[in-house]
Amino acid sequence: MIELWFQLIEKPIFPLLGLFVGCIMGSFLNVCAHRIPIAKSIVFPSSHCPKCGSSINWFRNIPIFSWIIQKGRAVCCSYIIPIRYFLVELITGVLFGYFFYLSSIDSDFVMLLVRCIFTSFMLAIIVIDYETMLIPDRLSIGGAVTGLILAFTFPEINLDFIQNSWLDHFSSGLDSLIGLLIGSSLLYWIGVLGFLIFGREALGEGDIKLLGCIGAFCGWQGATFAIFGGAFFGTCLLLPVMLCQKLFHFQKEKNDSDSELVWGKEVPFGPFLAAAGLFYFLGGSVYIEPWFEPFFLLIKNQ
Ligand SMILES: [Zn+2]
Repeated sequence: MIELWFQLIEKPIFPLLGLFVGCIMGSFLNVCAHRIPIAKSIVFPSSHCPKCGSSINWFRNIPIFSWIIQKGRAVCCSYIIPIRYFLVELITGVLFGYFFYLSSIDSDFVMLLVRCIFTSFMLAIIVIDYETMLIPDRLSIGGAVTGLILAFTFPEINLDFIQNSWLDHFSSGLDSLIGLLIGSSLLYWIGVLGFLIFGREALGEGDIKLLGCIGAFCGWQGATFAIFGGAFFGTCLLLPVMLCQKLFHFQKEKNDSDSELVWGKEVPFGPFLAAAGLFYFLGGSVYIEPWFEPFFLLIKNQ
């Protein structure tokens, strides 16, 4: 059985298997993104149309393909299936395919599991926060607890050398806990500072819990990066939009600013935090970790 498994992972079929698993996971994430904000069970009932309630046959529910074949339209009624369904399935499929490919090279199945789990949490949070401006505790706190349990169970996630003693497990779990606490408290105080300067709340409690989750998986360096990386990603994406609005409004009317985008108010920060956390976790840490070296040198010299 093990031999068969090793034969399988050496072949290109393994990344394809990842793509397949990822598409199904993406489909499940879409269900989560629809049902969690309205406090419905994510397991029962089976897939049904959000508009008319008719159940959806399995052959109308094939990830990616169903959306393309039906051209984004439901068969039962006039419901237009948002492109988000297609995109989440595609992105999850491609990412999982890539993770399976990486594990077929280094045979590191613990990292495969951790990558798939963290990515799933972040993608679900990105979609839900983008659509509802809320981050459910089930995902942020649930993700943080999952990160702690994984770090405790598999110390190789955080430690370069392990001796298979209990000390490894506690040490790795502690790394993860420190990441969680530093991440969430840092963002909390940034929020307090922002409130003092700008006089309005720019960060939600959900963002703080989310950063705790990112810290549990990525450590305190990853969580620290996510704050600044998230702000950077957000600025890169929104600045052009806001500039266009300003120019457009300047030509139109001066006092009509109802539809204007205001940073931190109408735009959720969570998706950018989660995207920066993903960037760090999925390879960006190689480039970003050296930035923290002066800090470690400073502690050593004390
Ligand atoms: Zn319908």
